[in-house]
Amino acid sequence: MTEQEHCLGKKPHAMVLSGGGSFGAYGIGIMKSLFTGQSPATGLSRINPTIFTGTSVGSLNACLLVSDPDQEAAIALRSLEQFWFQEMAGRTDLFRVRGDPTNVLDPQRILMQPVDTLLQSGRDAIYYASDLLRRAGSFTSLGGPWLQRPLYMASVSSLVDTSAFIELLRTTVDGRRVSHSPKSLAVVATNWQTGRVMVFTKQDFDKPEAHRYIAASAAVPGVFPPVAIAGELFIDGGVLMNTPLKPAIDLQAETIHVIDLLPPVKELPVVTSELYALQSTLAIVERILVMTVESRLDQDISRIAWINLLLEKGPEIVEGKRRRLTIHRYHPSKPLGGMLDLLNLDADSIEANIKLGFDDAGRHNCQEQGCVLPFAPAPKPTATEHPEVIGL
Ligand SMILES: [Zn+2]
Repeated sequence: MTEQEHCLGKKPHAMVLSGGGSFGAYGIGIMKSLFTGQSPATGLSRINPTIFTGTSVGSLNACLLVSDPDQEAAIALRSLEQFWFQEMAGRTDLFRVRGDPTNVLDPQRILMQPVDTLLQSGRDAIYYASDLLRRAGSFTSLGGPWLQRPLYMASVSSLVDTSAFIELLRTTVDGRRVSHSPKSLAVVATNWQTGRVMVFTKQDFDKPEAHRYIAASAAVPGVFPPVAIAGELFIDGGVLMNTPLKPAIDLQAETIHVIDLLPPVKELPVVTSELYALQSTLAIVERILVMTVESRLDQDISRIAWINLLLEKGPEIVEGKRRRLTIHRYHPSKPLGGMLDLLNLDADSIEANIKLGFDDAGRHNCQEQGCVLPFAPAPKPTATEHPEVIGL
């Protein structure tokens, strides 16, 4: 079997969709190119993936693609794109900042919805008052120096109201269709109490609270409130597994398309010691986030390259039923924005990110992207990479 046949034959294709808020539109562009046969990654052949895994916004996209009654991925993708433009683009209420004064001072909004605007402001005031009381009650039990306690009481998640987003998920996610779909799904959330990754598969979706799995997977810690499911609290899956590669392997994928919404670490701007001193805390946190997530993904992919090599050179030393895998990686060719852009649902931004994804997939170069091809040599190991990694 040639490499090309190995990639495009009957072997199941999987889409691995990472987290990244509104940047998830970029993944739609990549998939549009792959599903319509316009990417060199698949030799300009159309693919119809049967396995979808996702974290955060990736879990939403994956879930809607699996639940679409049309089994042709390219058609299901069109519905997903429509959903983004019709249900999310331009919405400022999905992740609403409570008590935002621009709502109350906006003359057009007051003229159009005078009662709603004032009622909402009143509800926000009541929410803040009760939240403050709750926090004041915990002040004495916090421990530590008194002057530091207000820092531990501050929470951005009190500012953000996600009720409209959860309502959108409730009316959109069709758990029954997901559970009966011939396609496979895995969405990842983090159990806030145990600190473990939780993978919800399509069999879990045949429950009334199915939409809450997606809400949990997207609940950015400290910004969005955690989501309770069966008495336990869950937060964004991206905390532990932003790119759910392993669930795709567990679902028997052989050719895996990993759409990563963050830039590779090597493409981050060079920071000198002088520049470091000038960086904001937000910029530093952003860089740490990219480095943590990307190095974990790099290690996972490097392990797969090693397993491929071992299967070729000495299959008897590889544990279990291992198989050669193909991993195509897709990164934005330019940054999609900073952390503060993650909630930007402006229609023009969504359209631009879809177009960038489509164009990037159209000029995909496996060598430049660090893809793993089943018959290619494994990369040279670094100090942290070693064939013991067979345990992946
Ligand atoms: Zn590739």
